[in-house]
Amino acid sequence: MKTIGLIGGMSWESTQTYYRLINQGVNKRLGGRHSAKILLYSVDFAEVEAQQMSGDWDASGDLLATAAQRLELAGADLILICTNTMHKVFDRVQAEVSRPLIHLADATAEQLVRDGIRSVGLLGTRFTMEQTFYRECLEKAGLKVLVPEQTGRDEIHRIIYEELCCGRIEDVSRQRMVRDVELLAQRGAEAVILGCTEIGLLLKSGDGPLPLYDTTEIHARAAVAAALA
Ligand code: GLU
Repeated sequence: MKTIGLIGGMSWESTQTYYRLINQGVNKRLGGRHSAKILLYSVDFAEVEAQQMSGDWDASGDLLATAAQRLELAGADLILICTNTMHKVFDRVQAEVSRPLIHLADATAEQLVRDGIRSVGLLGTRFTMEQTFYRECLEKAGLKVLVPEQTGRDEIHRIIYEELCCGRIEDVSRQRMVRDVELLAQRGAEAVILGCTEIGLLLKSGDGPLPLYDTTEIHARAAVAAALA
């Protein structure tokens, strides 16, 4: 079994989910008392958030590249950046290590294409929904990407940072996001990507009319497959 390196803490609320899902995935495959070999480098999310808000992606790239190098030195065979948003600096981080990083958006696109989805809604931070770094991974796989209108995007972004990343799960926010899923369905989306690693704490499959693709689950599954390959 290979050792999985996690760059986590963005936020730690979703890193817990990664830790549980990866261990459960390995145990499901190997049985008995087997569990995953994991190294975790967990950052201080306040530092990362400040860099995001000021647009200092170079500083974030440096921070996560250093984390990846330390994981590699400690013995990680493969590495995950445990957040959608910070895939903005994926190439910078991958360039600094020789071990492979598993790209979350590429893994998600592969799953959607395998399932025959052509038009997909995307929920995430404003960076993920509005900038090109994430959407283009989906589009190059042939997917049409739909995002909520401006007010919906602003509200989802607020819910992620003010509630989910602080461990607050609010029913009113769940209803709000279900409404966004309904609106995306009306515009032709066949499925919705939970493109933020905390949204799965709020929305579960069966909430709203469309299949939900939880990126935390997809990323964790890809890590287990790679570790046991
Ligand atoms: N975990 C979130 C994501 O998947 C948001 C927090 C962050 O900005 O990293 O995008």
